[in-house]
Amino acid sequence: MVAKRQDADLAMWPNHDARQTATATLERPAKPTLWLVDAQMELASCVPEEGVGAYDRLKEYGVGPLRQQRIDRAYFKMPAEERDARIWELRTQLGSRLTILGHHYQRDEVIQFADFQGDSYKLSQQAAAQSEAEFTLFCGVHFMAESAHILGSPDQHVILPNLEAGCSMADMAKPEDVEAAWNTLSDLGIRGIVPVTYMNSAATLKAFCGRNGGIVCTSSNAPRVYDWAFDRGERLFFFPDEHLGRNTGVRKDIPLDQMVVWDPFLPLGGNTEEQLRNAKVYLWKGYCSVHARFSVAQIAKARDDFPDVQVVVHPECPLDVVQASDFDGSTEYIIDLIRAAPDGTTWAVGTEINLVRRLQAQMPEKTIFCLDPVICPCSTMYRIHPAYMLWTLEHLVRGEVVNEITVEPAIADQARVALDRMLSVP
Ligand code: SF4
Repeated sequence: MVAKRQDADLAMWPNHDARQTATATLERPAKPTLWLVDAQMELASCVPEEGVGAYDRLKEYGVGPLRQQRIDRAYFKMPAEERDARIWELRTQLGSRLTILGHHYQRDEVIQFADFQGDSYKLSQQAAAQSEAEFTLFCGVHFMAESAHILGSPDQHVILPNLEAGCSMADMAKPEDVEAAWNTLSDLGIRGIVPVTYMNSAATLKAFCGRNGGIVCTSSNAPRVYDWAFDRGERLFFFPDEHLGRNTGVRKDIPLDQMVVWDPFLPLGGNTEEQLRNAKVYLWKGYCSVHARFSVAQIAKARDDFPDVQVVVHPECPLDVVQASDFDGSTEYIIDLIRAAPDGTTWAVGTEINLVRRLQAQMPEKTIFCLDPVICPCSTMYRIHPAYMLWTLEHLVRGEVVNEITVEPAIADQARVALDRMLSVP
């Protein structure tokens, strides 16, 4: 077993020569494991499986199956080569007026056009840094585009190619439910609670944290944000990902029985008054549809199949999975870890399949595979398709901004407070 390692210095993947990168990433090295992942990709539009416990919650939260924004079907019927050539042409026409950002979990067909690849927070920072660019085409999901708008200048237009590209985890913490939970704890006389929201949340939730003395965290800085919060209060309310909240609490040596789950569908969040009074951390009952799928059984199988395998997972995975892995960390951490590993090493990865597939294609000298043999990609991220990119760019060259994501100024100001507090954390 390899000792666990945390917090690498993480770098963006600048991708200015996007054409070249696209060619490189789309080539298929002759690795048997790649075909396994290609087979996994056939399930691109899969809906949640029955029998995976966590998925029952999707119905309760009203997070539905795959939906798409309606645009002319001709965009989808167009041959891929013609569509891609047209996107490149419009991209060239717009020049430095446009920045295209691609989240690591996007498919290669989208990533090929990205000026920058990264995780949600780094992409938002990158968008803000492109002072010349009037338009940011954010190939990610809704909360990411909101953050780019909050962190960017007022003159920049942030565009989400498909308005239906949300995040099921972010949708699980609705502002009215969060306010109700907060008021319930206050009515019980429980004081000293600092709200902490994960970057993967709506601007309204970041604003809630901003106006209530709270803060935003990412999967890289969550342990340091816990320290910040406990310097200012005795308790912490963590939204919207139960698993990242618990995994971080365990890392900070908080006993499991002092971390209770708040279920918004149950009175007192499903707890007794005594449990709530004794708790140090309240964990919102939300989860990532991708990372909640990984299991200890999958890790055991990977270790059986490849005795020298090293297992790395994202901290949005359940606690038992993180504890059974060799390493856990953010998406950027996973990338850097595998990149730095010697040739000939074998990696089982517990994160989104598009990223795993790309790592595999870029590093054929290593064996890299996804822990889950039937995993779906992030179905909400998957709603971004080159057809939507073409549709938005055609409007932009005509001077029409479509699918712009904006955040009401009062909400943006409060959310910025919580984001600035995060930036102040050493
Ligand atoms: S991978 Fe998970 S957290 Fe990220 S956008 Fe998809 S559902 Fe949301």
